[in-house]
Amino acid sequence: MHGKDVTLEGVSITYPNGYTAVQPTDLKVEAGEFFSILGPSGCGKTTILRAVSGFNEPSTGRILIGGEDMAGIGPNARPTALIFQNLALFPLMPVWENVAFGLEARGISKRKRREKAQELLDLVALGDQGEKLPSELSGGQRQRVAIARALAVEPAVLLLDEPLSALDLKLRQHMRAELRAIQKKTGVTFIYITHDQGEALTMSDRIAVMNKGVVEQVGTGDEIYSRPRTAFAASFVGEVNRFDGRVESVANGQAVVTTALGQFRARNPEGMEPGSEAMLFVRPEAMAPLHSENRIEARLVRRDLEGAFLNLFFDAGGTEIAVHVTNDAKAPALVVGDTLALGFAPDAAVVLPAGALARTGQELAAQ
Ligand code: ATP
Repeated sequence: MHGKDVTLEGVSITYPNGYTAVQPTDLKVEAGEFFSILGPSGCGKTTILRAVSGFNEPSTGRILIGGEDMAGIGPNARPTALIFQNLALFPLMPVWENVAFGLEARGISKRKRREKAQELLDLVALGDQGEKLPSELSGGQRQRVAIARALAVEPAVLLLDEPLSALDLKLRQHMRAELRAIQKKTGVTFIYITHDQGEALTMSDRIAVMNKGVVEQVGTGDEIYSRPRTAFAASFVGEVNRFDGRVESVANGQAVVTTALGQFRARNPEGMEPGSEAMLFVRPEAMAPLHSENRIEARLVRRDLEGAFLNLFFDAGGTEIAVHVTNDAKAPALVVGDTLALGFAPDAAVVLPAGALARTGQELAAQ
């Protein structure tokens, strides 16, 4: 098996009712890459995936797989396979037949099908489960059968639409490592759709962060976490503190922003100009008690012990500030009610154009 690259050139997708679910998008997924599309529900992830697999056509632009234009090529003729969240295994067929199902239509003999199924079951670590029925397997095992079945037709690109979301948390975390290992072993290009930033960060070579039909940023997990390019990417991936304000001055790749809590200096990667409305983002682990720069007077209101980490929540004039420190001898001996100066290094913070933000867990839960 080998992977192929997938290129989207100016692809936009408008549904017959006139709704544009995907704005014009350029994207290049490399051959053999584990690539995730990460974004909240309804942002257009599935729409893109269905276009790559051939179940819907782009309204503008074109999709190339391995350099070949896919226009007019139906789903069955594409070098892709699709795995959904609700996998449909055939309940009355033993596991191996489920895996080999797609091969029968291709006129492959039973002996060959059996061999191929065994090879794939070995690959997903189910080599001795072939004779069982799907109902005799665990959820994670069933998911691996679905993956083996999708790989049986030797796709160059495997498209996975939230395949782990029906599993419980523990199994989901275990399956992340499994999926990643299967992808690396086969070299097949994986395009993985998820709204779960943890999944995207742990498994992917690169991630596209998507919001409202727009791919806002593409990069490694590290790049997106440490170098977000938009307010949405900064607020969707990982926890972050935000200070709203206006750019006061700029120099040497940094900007000074005036906020309700004072003036702060941070990186200015988007080249914002004085006078523009800005959002300054600082990760909780970059915010430190008694740092000498960008100081903020704040009162400790909550102290959560997380084992190796200590999560501190401060109040500064009505703004909540989260601070994560390692729980070791250097952790400050603070008690709730203490007031002190927090701060952050300008290099560890970023100033971005004010824009749409990801909704917080609390906001989503309140829906
Ligand atoms: P989820 O994680 O909830 O599956 P998603 O990011 O995959 O979300 P899509 O399924 O791609 O989102 O849908 C994107 C937008 O397009 C949504 O607003 C959805 O309501 C809309 N949409 C999806 N299918 C159709 C359709 N057949 N006709 C019209 N609008 C549609």
